[in-house]
Amino acid sequence: MNVKIEYNKKVYEINSNHGKSISIPMNFNSNNNPKFYDEINPTKESYTSNDITYDINKDAGCNVPVVKFNVHCSGTHTETGAHIFKGSQTIGELSNLNFIPSRLITIKPQKQSSENYHVTYDLKDQIITKEILIKSLESYNDFLECVIIRTLPNNEDKLKLNYNEHNHPFLSNDAVYYLKEKRVKHIIIDTPSIDRSDDGGQLKNHKIFFSNNDNSINKNTVTELAFIPNNCIDGRYFVCIGYPKFELDAAPSNPVVYKVI
Ligand SMILES: [Zn+2]
Repeated sequence: MNVKIEYNKKVYEINSNHGKSISIPMNFNSNNNPKFYDEINPTKESYTSNDITYDINKDAGCNVPVVKFNVHCSGTHTETGAHIFKGSQTIGELSNLNFIPSRLITIKPQKQSSENYHVTYDLKDQIITKEILIKSLESYNDFLECVIIRTLPNNEDKLKLNYNEHNHPFLSNDAVYYLKEKRVKHIIIDTPSIDRSDDGGQLKNHKIFFSNNDNSINKNTVTELAFIPNNCIDGRYFVCIGYPKFELDAAPSNPVVYKVI
């Protein structure tokens, strides 16, 4: 179905049947999941009551799985300022995260940079700098409410990478300030964090992005551990960040992107 969306006094068209998921499938009782800090895979057990195990493979009438997983460490998830700030809104309290005008960019992080990051980093680290983002975004003033960042190399290893064994790229502080200058409210990225995996627990990029210039907390979101298939080309999209109404700082999510026709 073709759907017309009016945005910035212009009409754009998408096909609602052609949305593409940019999230990582969560597998239960399986090693096929990414890992960041916590290496325990999501688990699933069947609910058991009155000697009935609710599993259709065990002659029950239906499946009733009871699951356990680490929201931040095992797959695609979307978080709010509540991840780091007291008194911030939960993900379940946010609404209207649908058809967000977005730009998908593909970037190659760089080694070493003179840009600011709040802790020293080493030669193994890869940085997403303001300079890199400027090249992808500077000429645009629209479709910037959300920026979707695909890092190179991009392959299906990301679906089950153990990030405790592989350094992930992270943004410089300057890069985050630049996104705020461009009025970006939502970041979707295919790394497990916009900060270095170990920044001494400061999470300063998160603090920058989730606060306004007057230090109040905003309603921005960050989606981490996305996976953007190579057949999604760079450009303009409307994105719906699907997520359950969890009263938590974060929830597993399934962003779906709709290409502007
Ligand atoms: Zn997170």
